Order: sequence, then structure tokens, then C-alpha cells
Amino acid sequence: MKKVLSVTSECVPLIKTGGLADVAGALPGSLEAQGWHMRTLLPAYPGVADKAGAAEVVFAFDDLMGGRARVLAGSEAGIDVLALDAPHLFDRAGGPYGNPTDFPDNPVRFAALSFAAAQIAAEGLSDNWRPDVLHAHDWQAGLAPTYLRLNGVTDVASVMTVHNIAFQGLAPAAMLGTMALPLSEFTSDKLEYWGQISTLKAGLVDAGAVTTVSPTYAGELMRGEFGMGLEGVMAARAGDLSGILNGIDMDVWNPATDAQITAYSATSLKGKATNRKALVSEFGLSRITGPLAIVVSRLTSQKGMDLIAATAHQFVEAGGGLAILGSGDPVIEDQMRILARNNPGKVGLRIGYDEALSHRMFGGGDVVLVPSRFEPCGLTQLYGLRYGTVPVVAATGGLADSVIDHNIMAQTAGVSTGFQFHPIDEMGLSQCLRRVIAQFSDKSGWTRLQKRGMKQALGWEASSAAYAALYEKLTDERRSST
Ligand code: ADP
Repeated sequence: MKKVLSVTSECVPLIKTGGLADVAGALPGSLEAQGWHMRTLLPAYPGVADKAGAAEVVFAFDDLMGGRARVLAGSEAGIDVLALDAPHLFDRAGGPYGNPTDFPDNPVRFAALSFAAAQIAAEGLSDNWRPDVLHAHDWQAGLAPTYLRLNGVTDVASVMTVHNIAFQGLAPAAMLGTMALPLSEFTSDKLEYWGQISTLKAGLVDAGAVTTVSPTYAGELMRGEFGMGLEGVMAARAGDLSGILNGIDMDVWNPATDAQITAYSATSLKGKATNRKALVSEFGLSRITGPLAIVVSRLTSQKGMDLIAATAHQFVEAGGGLAILGSGDPVIEDQMRILARNNPGKVGLRIGYDEALSHRMFGGGDVVLVPSRFEPCGLTQLYGLRYGTVPVVAATGGLADSVIDHNIMAQTAGVSTGFQFHPIDEMGLSQCLRRVIAQFSDKSGWTRLQKRGMKQALGWEASSAAYAALYEKLTDERRSST
């Protein structure tokens, strides 16, 4: 079986702060079926090595950026874990990046992770495992492809995946030496970024291929509005850049087995009506006559939550209802409080993070609103499809790639799965919500729309097949060039 080393700062179920951890945790299992054995290198934050039963020393460093370090092999939930045990860098209280603000030596901590990955790729582990491909995730692993080049390793391919371009791994130039980087790297065609080091840029320049988490976002990243200053670097890699949509956990998100709700499936939606009644009562929405829209989201302007606050009154006047769960920007939280107060029996609000409630909302909602201004992949529209809770999304990033708009052509062809709107502004959203209200009154058409969404393939199979195909391509190219 071919071998890939995944390099990541987070991985479910060991440590998670965001979506990167879900991807890192889901890939090893699904890649196995594609003929690729993945091992996952991540920092041994407190408790990580114990949880993974990682005790076997498979690599050692006398001095890894300021202290002794070891790589410990173990496993957890089907993931082959390589825990980088470097107490001077990772044995600290707090989260993976700070306590609570960022640790000042983060650039060195994750340079060490990347350096260790490249050493493993160069020399192999003591249990005779050496990867064919190194897969680096986000800025924390961005330097790994660069260290590969600096080490003269030419027989291991590399992939850089961008989950969030907003985090670019910036560090002062004075840290070059501590990060084991020669001054010759500090040029604008390599890792220099406006006078600083960018570890993400390093990866974007040096990796054999660059991916992000949806095809549309891959295209958007080459444009000024989305690239956050790295659009030129992205555009320069256009020929090696692709988007691979994330999957969802089809067991956790399954309306036929979800313990939070009355079960239902695409063959019978009867249970969904029961869940809707329960949700209406849980949120006190006694006055709605049209579609019940749910929102499960960070309440931020990236997520377009201000657009909902500004346009919801038209939707509720036309009979719609809104159940909102989220927290975030205090200004938007207040806008939502006002919306709920002004629309008793029509808009319900829960400020907070509540996973169980989110399942009940997907179980009972008619539509899920996702009006993000940008969205690398997005998950809630996928949960919506899975639960027959029709997604209403902004036409951007992974939202554009996972929902087929219910326009005339798509209706005729019988392929639509939700609603898309553009431009992403108040007018765009309110016009789209009018289409939703109109369509909702055609019950049989609506049921067909729900069922089509529920039948979509949303698991990790397609994603892992795409990653495997990319690994194959890179290793084939390497073979033919050596
Ligand atoms: P992002 O990672 O940018 O916030 P995603 O759509 O990729 O957006 O992932 C968000 C995840 O967090 C989803 O699983 C969503 O259901 C969940 N989520 C967001 N807010 C809440 C909340 N208030 N309560 C429960 N789950 C939430």
C-alpha cells in the first residue's frame, strides 16, 4: 500500500478547534479504501500521546529547535498517530495555539512540527515506514515542503491544503535562524511576505500541488476579494491548484438514527413533520404559516448574519419563521435579539453553542439559511441536504459547489437541491427568500426537492478518491522525472 504522511496541528478526536481537525480525522479511514495508508503527525499537546497510547519511539531529535524531541507512534479511532513529543514546545496549559492569546513562539513551535515531518520524509521512521507523499495542512505545516527542498529530498511528493487563507503563519524576519531557515529563503518569490516570514506562502510556493476545500473557493482565492493578499501566489500556482470538497460524517448526521429526533428517511418524511412540531414548540413559533428556516452558525459578518437581521422581517411578514442558534459578534447578537423581540411567535433565538439542539433544528426545519460572504467549504448546507432541510445559500465557495439552484432549467431537468442567491447582499437574499416562500406552497414539488437533497452522496468517499488521485498523479510524475 502507498504511504502518505499527514502533517496537522489538529485532528479529531484528539484535538479540535476548527474544521481542519474534522478533515484530518476523517481522511485516514477513507483513504485506506483508496489504497493509501496515512499516518498523522501532530504535536503531543498535554494528553495527546496518552489518549493515542503513543509510547513507541520511532524517531528522535537531540535538538529540535531548542530541546530534545521524540516521535511516538500510537493509534486512536483508526488513526495512525505520530505524536511529536517536544515538551519545550508543546507541553503547556491552554489551547493548541495559546492560553488564551497566541503563544509568542508559535512560529517556532510549528516550524518544528514541519521540520520533523520533513526529517521523517527524508530518513523514514525506525519501524521502516517512509512516506511517498507528505500532505501539509494550513500554515502550521506550511514549511514542511520547504524543508523537504532544503534537505534535498526529491523522492517524496508534497501537497499543501489551505483550509483558511486568513491565517498565514506570519513571523518576524528575525526568527529565520531559530526556524532553521537560511537568509536566502527570505525573498518575495519564496517565503517573504511584506517584510515578514509567511509559513503558508512557503508551502504554497514549494508544494507539488495546492488544494483547498472546494473548487469554487480555489478559483476565488486567485482574486483580490478572497485571496487576502496571497491571490498572486495562488494565481502563480493555478495549474497545480484544485478544490476538493469536504465530506460529512454520515453516521453522526443521519436522520434515520439520530437520537435527538424522531427518525425519518428519504422514503418517508413523516417523522420530519413530528420534529417540526417539536421545534416550533421548543422555539415558541406559534404564529408561522410558511416555511420554518433555521440558522446554526457563528453570528459574524463572514457568515452574512447581518443580512438575515436586515431582511428577516419581509420573510416573516410573508408567513415564514426563523429559529436561530449561534453566538459571535456582540453587535450581530444584539441585532438578532431585537429581531426576535420584534417578532414574537415568528423568530426564536438561542445564543450559545449547542450540538444537540442543532440536530433537533436540522430534524425539524424546512430550510437552512447559509448566506456567507465567503465560505471555503461549509458544513451546515450539507447537513441540510442530508436532513431534507432545504439549503438556501449564497453563491460562493463550497456553498456554490454543493447546492444546485432550483431554477427553471434545474427544475425541468429534476436536479435542483436548494436555492442559491447572488449578489450576496440584502436584495439578493430577500429575493431568494421570496422564491422559497412561493416554492414552499407547492407541497409535492417541495417534497421532491427535499428527497433529492437527501439522496446526495455527502460522505468522504468522493473527497478521499480525489485526494488519492492527486497523490497518484504526483507520485507518477516524480517517478517519470527521476
Ligand atoms: P465555520 O467552521 O466557518 O464556523 P462550517 O460550516 O464549516 O463553518 O462549520 C461550522 C460547524 O459548527 C458546523 O458543524 C455547525 O453545525 C457547527 N455550529 C456552528 N455554530 C453552532 C452552534 N451555535 N451550536 C452548535 N453547532 C454549531
